[in-house]
Amino acid sequence: MARIAGVSATRPVVIIGAGIQGCAAAYFLSQRGQPVIVLEKDYVGRHASGVNAGGVRRLGRDIAEIPLSLAAMDWWNQIDQLLDIEDGFHRQSYVKVALDATASNLAASRIQQLQKAGFNHETWVDPGQLHQRIPHLTKSVLGGVIVEGDGWALPWKITRAFYDKAVSLGAEFQMPVEVQSLNYFGDHWQVTTDAGRIEADIVVNCAGAWGAQIAQMGGDCLPIEAHAPMLVITDRQPMFLDAVIGVMGDTLSFKQLDNGSMVIGGGIRGIASPAQNKTQITPNGLSTFVMTAGRVFPQLRDVAILRAWAGIEGYTNDNLPIIGLGSQPGIIHGFGFSAHGFQLGPAVGEVLADLVMARQPRVNISPFSPQRFN
Ligand SMILES: Cc1cc2nc3c(=O)[nH]c(=O)nc-3n(C[C@H](O)[C@H](O)[C@H](O)COP(=O)(O)OP(=O)(O)OC[C@H]3O[C@@H](n4cnc5c(N)ncnc54)[C@H](O)[C@@H]3O)c2cc1C
Repeated sequence: MARIAGVSATRPVVIIGAGIQGCAAAYFLSQRGQPVIVLEKDYVGRHASGVNAGGVRRLGRDIAEIPLSLAAMDWWNQIDQLLDIEDGFHRQSYVKVALDATASNLAASRIQQLQKAGFNHETWVDPGQLHQRIPHLTKSVLGGVIVEGDGWALPWKITRAFYDKAVSLGAEFQMPVEVQSLNYFGDHWQVTTDAGRIEADIVVNCAGAWGAQIAQMGGDCLPIEAHAPMLVITDRQPMFLDAVIGVMGDTLSFKQLDNGSMVIGGGIRGIASPAQNKTQITPNGLSTFVMTAGRVFPQLRDVAILRAWAGIEGYTNDNLPIIGLGSQPGIIHGFGFSAHGFQLGPAVGEVLADLVMARQPRVNISPFSPQRFN
């Protein structure tokens, strides 16, 4: 069972970071009447949360993460009503295709492993069914693992919508304001920023790739590494794809936006420089994208790449996020999403709000405990 914190006084909760986790936490806390101040060194969605691939997937998750991912999907299925937006979630299906026998075997054992654990949202789809649904897929595909009802969303739109909604409910965002140190005075935190000091009973660390730095300020040594996964967007193609496609044993994903452009990428990394607040794209990685794209959809061999970018993300060594109480009273961590935290965002916001308000989260978060690194 997860330890929980609880607001004991009337000072606003301070959230560090206005990515999707910080904005979603601000939303849920404001909606429950808890005053919140969010401190962001850049602007809303400037980093991973605004520039990611937008994959909203339960597919391929670590078993420990599935309950949180399922809880998030409850929110995704009502995201328009939740955030007062339109077309927030493009509900399709997500398929990881198997291109060789090793990948097929991997898929079979994955499905078996999930069923043993009581999950049946991932199922096998044979090549005939796949070609019926996605006729342009390479003829050599051997099948795939599918999750119906996964899909994609525009990352900046969702992160911004959580921000807008939180603000409309009374949350205060201070930007650009960088947190420089945290000091605990026995009964409260002093948060020192480049714009002054704030006192808080509870500090929530949603600082993404900078989360370990903030954790260190709060007395916790929580190891993450910063990496910069890359994405490309192509010119407009005739509409041919209404599913998100991944490749079994590979980290790439493909989706077609409403205007026909393809967003391709995810796993291949450029260079992350969190201290300089920037990323660098590496041309070798980009050529891998194009080659894999051509293997999966032969028609994409000659597609024109319009733009490439990378985002900074914090990775843990077990690829599970860090969510839970720190070692000092009143500090809560929610970072290290290892390149799959966008889909989890709404559920993470809810869990962080629960921890702040001393409520037991509705999903088991013990696999994400910060104490696992002790
Ligand atoms: C290229 C790419 C593709 C991805 N694709 C997917 C996908 O398809 N599906 C999926 O589920 N996930 C995906 N992810 C992962 C997902 O984007 C992240 O897990 C998620 O956005 C993390 O959100 P966050 O709020 O923790 O971090 P961030 O969005 O990085 O937000 C953290 C914020 O904290 C701020 N901050 C840091 N330090 C300080 C400080 N000292 N003071 C004040 N503010 C501070 C930063 O400026 C930043 O804005 C992808 C990530 C990348 C980079």
